[in-house]
Amino acid sequence: MKKTDIQGSIQEAAALIRKSKYMIAFTGAGISVESGVPSFRGEGGVWGSYDERHLELGFFLREPEIAWKTIRELFYKFTMDVKPNRAHEILANWEKQGMLKLVITQNIDGLHTRAGTEKLAEFHGSCDSLVCLRCSRSFGAKKELVDAMPPRCSCGGILKPDFVFFGEGIPEKPYSLSFDASNKADLCLVIGSTGLVYPAAAIPGTVKARGGKVIEINPEPSEFSGRISDVFIPLGASKAMEAVDKALRE
Ligand SMILES: [Zn+2]
Repeated sequence: MKKTDIQGSIQEAAALIRKSKYMIAFTGAGISVESGVPSFRGEGGVWGSYDERHLELGFFLREPEIAWKTIRELFYKFTMDVKPNRAHEILANWEKQGMLKLVITQNIDGLHTRAGTEKLAEFHGSCDSLVCLRCSRSFGAKKELVDAMPPRCSCGGILKPDFVFFGEGIPEKPYSLSFDASNKADLCLVIGSTGLVYPAAAIPGTVKARGGKVIEINPEPSEFSGRISDVFIPLGASKAMEAVDKALRE
């Protein structure tokens, strides 16, 4: 795409946002790449060096100590220190200005919360809390807890990160929040999602099927591009969001 075409897409996106009465955002791993969160799949994905089975619920229940070693390496070494980037911050500002009704994220890194987003559906749960498998008590993922071998509740139960493991269903609350909102939305802003992981990936299509519009921000074309995206901005998340935010204020 030529630079002038990208500029045109940014203007089109801004026009759709201005017209929208109920905008939602749908974010995936691509929004957190610029914060330094590694991607799990694809080229350079971290799965290559770990055993995926350690994130199966059955394995975790049988071998929590082994599973926790992998979990700590994969999720808690980096998420404790990463910071939201401009894309997360602009979404949080749009919510404060009343422009954005809900952020639905596939990410478990907690960066939308850290950026200040309050209306949030964490579709796959979050690293930020741990839940006791015996008494269901919930804990913040503090370093002292995460460093224990394995982390335990005061009742003696093992603590599990409150994100979705392989073999687990989508938690009911974010699921219903997401699909309720996508059944009301007239605009879905997709940022950094390749559209491969279902049922999350059905959300933009739900908006589209009801006559809503879809804006897509992804550095490379995805499953959404050309199929359901009305506007495609082929840039990284921060760069694209800064450009659209600027266009909205012109
Ligand atoms: Zn407990």
